[in-house]
Amino acid sequence: MRLWLHGSPFEKQLNCRERTGKKNVVQICFEDRIKWVWRHSKSDAPEVSGLELHSTNNSEIAPSGPQAIEVLGLQKGYGDLPVLWDLNLSLGWGEFLVLFGSNGSGKTTLLRTLSGQARPDAGTVRVAGHDLRRRPRAARRQVGVVAHSGFLYDDLTCAENLTFYGRLYSVEGLKTRVAEALERVGLSQRADRRVRSLSHGMQKRLAIARAILHQPSLLLLDEPESGLDRDSVAALAALLREWTDSGRSVVMTTHNTDLGQVWGSKVAAIINGKLDFDGARNYLGAGR
Ligand code: ADP
Repeated sequence: MRLWLHGSPFEKQLNCRERTGKKNVVQICFEDRIKWVWRHSKSDAPEVSGLELHSTNNSEIAPSGPQAIEVLGLQKGYGDLPVLWDLNLSLGWGEFLVLFGSNGSGKTTLLRTLSGQARPDAGTVRVAGHDLRRRPRAARRQVGVVAHSGFLYDDLTCAENLTFYGRLYSVEGLKTRVAEALERVGLSQRADRRVRSLSHGMQKRLAIARAILHQPSLLLLDEPESGLDRDSVAALAALLREWTDSGRSVVMTTHNTDLGQVWGSKVAAIINGKLDFDGARNYLGAGR
């Protein structure tokens, strides 16, 4: 599909890419960053963010673009302890990878490496087409992280925490984005409450709001459902479904095998330092 944008500084034919197999969902990318997500039906006026948009089906379909994640020959250890070795992973746009594995198998290490928090010892890691070694800032801009530590400041309010992180990422229209993110996780009423006064589950919800605030294209979630009540888990499921429906991607670790199998479009286990897709079945079998 070719798309033309008019009335913008980019008024020229762009080689945009349809980055999702989902019907009637088009992501419009510029310099490999998702700029707009357009959900359309045949009767929709072709309008995106005030820009006129025409589309034609074109047999010269552009290549599908970079993967959400490409990892080749990753090695990562701590001192003498090898944790990940010769690990390969390819994750497409709109995919949801659930990672299982026993304690200490390296799930958190993999997420930390993908988010740029831990430096690989060897191998190549690309996030949204950006090599983490060569373009770490551009890669990190594409990633939202929910880790065991919420990266929240106890003495700041919910809104202040998000505003602080939003400034780090130079988020445009920050006040509105903060309000939207708080609403998305059901914390609008608690915008002015200090983090230390929130329950563990609410802090987790705020951490999720922080992860989505700068509208990344990839979410990395380390056991995000732990500590959430049933309604919050359902709300997280809805958020993640919407996320992948719009062609963005997720990698999530969990020990909840039932939930992981329902949420993930792919499941894998880390076994002996590698991602093992077949091994995940054994892991799931053992968990029953
Ligand atoms: P998982 O998330 O699957 O439980 P981790 O990635 O947290 O596993 O840990 C993998 C291994 O690396 C464990 O043996 C852990 O003790 C070790 N490890 C993790 N982080 C560090 C660190 N910062 N320094 C030293 N060893 C670490």
